[in-house]
Amino acid sequence: MNTEDTVQVQCPYCAQSFEVLVDCSIEHQEYAEECEVCNRPVELIIDVSPEGEVTVTTRGEDV
Ligand SMILES: [Zn+2]
Repeated sequence: MNTEDTVQVQCPYCAQSFEVLVDCSIEHQEYAEECEVCNRPVELIIDVSPEGEVTVTTRGEDV
C-alpha cells in the first residue's frame, strides 16, 4: 500500500492547479502550503479513508 500519494489541488486565489504530496498514513491533517504560482498560503484539509482514498479540500485565508 502506498504511504504517499500525489494529489492535484486548485489554488483558491489564482485557480492554478498544483500537486501536493500527501502522507496517507495520517487519517486527517491540516496544513498550509504555498502556491507555486502566486506564493500565497493555501490551507489544505486532507482526509484519508480506510480504503486509502485521499480527499483534499483547499481554503484561502480571505477567499
Ligand atoms: Zn495561487
